[in-house]
Parts: sequence; C-alpha cells; structure tokens
Amino acid sequence: METLIAGYRRFRTKGWPERRKLFEALAESGQRPKAMVVACIDSRVDPAMIFDAAPGELLTVRNVANLVPPCAPDGAHHGTSAALEFGVRMLEVPHLIVLGHGMCGGVRSLLEGAPDRAGDFVANWMSIAEPARLRAVRCAPNEDRQEYCEHEVIKVSLANLMTYPWIAERVAAGKLELHGAWFAIHSGVLMMLLPNGSFVAADGSD
Ligand SMILES: [Zn+2]
Repeated sequence: METLIAGYRRFRTKGWPERRKLFEALAESGQRPKAMVVACIDSRVDPAMIFDAAPGELLTVRNVANLVPPCAPDGAHHGTSAALEFGVRMLEVPHLIVLGHGMCGGVRSLLEGAPDRAGDFVANWMSIAEPARLRAVRCAPNEDRQEYCEHEVIKVSLANLMTYPWIAERVAAGKLELHGAWFAIHSGVLMMLLPNGSFVAADGSD
C-alpha cells in the first residue's frame, strides 16, 4: 500500500496541478466520453494508456476476458450490462469498443478449465464465451488456439452487444459504431477487427 500512497503523492504534486483545469471543467460541465471500452481486468491492458486518452475521454468497463453477456433483464446483478446501459443510453457514446488482449488468463481458463480456487464465479462467467471455445477447438491447431480464441471471444462479445435492443437500434440508426480490437502485450501492438473477421494493425503498419 505504501507504494500506492507514494504514487498518489506524485499525482498530487505533479499530475493534479497539470490537469487541474481539465478536472474543473469536467466537474462543471459533466463527462462527455468519445467512446466506451469493454476491456479485460488484466493489469497489463490499460485502455487509457493504449489510446493515450485523458480523463473524461473514455468510459471503461472491465471484467474477466472483456466479455459482454447476452441481454438478460431478469433482476439479477448485471454489472457489465448496467455499465453498457449507462454509457449507451445515458451518455450516448458514439463508439463502443471490445478490447481483447494476448495472454488472457480468462481465455486460458476457458480452454484449459478454471482452477478450483476460481470455481465460484470465473468458470460460469467464462461460459458466455463457449461458442468461441468451440470454434477455437474446431479451427485452430493447439499452438495457435489461445490467440484464436481471444479473437473469437471479441466476436462473441460484439454479437452479444447486438442483443441489447437500445444498442441494436442505435447501430441501425448510425448513432453508434461497434468495434473489435486486440492488444498484444508482448509487442504493444493494437490490432483492429475487420468486417471479414481478420485483425490488422490499427496504425496501418504490419
Ligand atoms: Zn484477459
């Protein structure tokens, strides 16, 4: 905890004075994020860092393996769905990005089975991505299966986004665009999902 408090002290002496005006403006006029990101909880994949975004620019929801559950307004506690409702219906973000990543522990547990000590919630949560697991097992050789499945998980989440009527309506009306992206931890390269299902470097490089 001491390291964190030391980090906070650095923020107060350096980061806060630099950004004071921005925070004051955001406090006064409210947030108007340019995009919403559904990302993994992985500590190595920080959407604000990857997109070099300032406070107020990105609305982010993070969960294990950047999954979007299908729309199920059943009275249970749906954290990700609540965040989506807030971002899409209240803040009306124009872009919604599902950001997956390499070496994802959630995807590994989907392919290899969740460890017993993560059996209360992780396995059931990852079952959302069962169609991705099946496609990976069917279509990819063993050594490529992890990355193939990470890509397929992004596609499952994008398909599930369209089960929310207020997302499908906005997409049809051209008010909201959905995007898939995948971040390679070992190289720092961001790949974007194309309509044909393949991923290409976001900045046009190889
Ligand atoms: Zn992950």
